[in-house]
Amino acid sequence: MPWCEDCSRFYTPSTLSADGDCPEGHHVAAPDERPAVQQSLAEGREEERTKAPWHFWLLVAALAIYLGWRLIQGVEWLIR
Ligand SMILES: [Zn+2]
Repeated sequence: MPWCEDCSRFYTPSTLSADGDCPEGHHVAAPDERPAVQQSLAEGREEERTKAPWHFWLLVAALAIYLGWRLIQGVEWLIR
């Protein structure tokens, strides 16, 4: 809970401005409220990075089809 010294009261993080100021304009230090938001954003980005994009799977599918075709050609060459 961010505490404003000048107003002598607590504020919820949503009541404070983006810079961490109370509605009266005093600066309220809220260092333990901000990193939580940044961490959740970082986790969201992490999830985005680990999830493969659709064109990656398109490439994998194309490679699988190509290698399958080459395998069929190889088997045909062996049989002949
Ligand atoms: Zn204040």
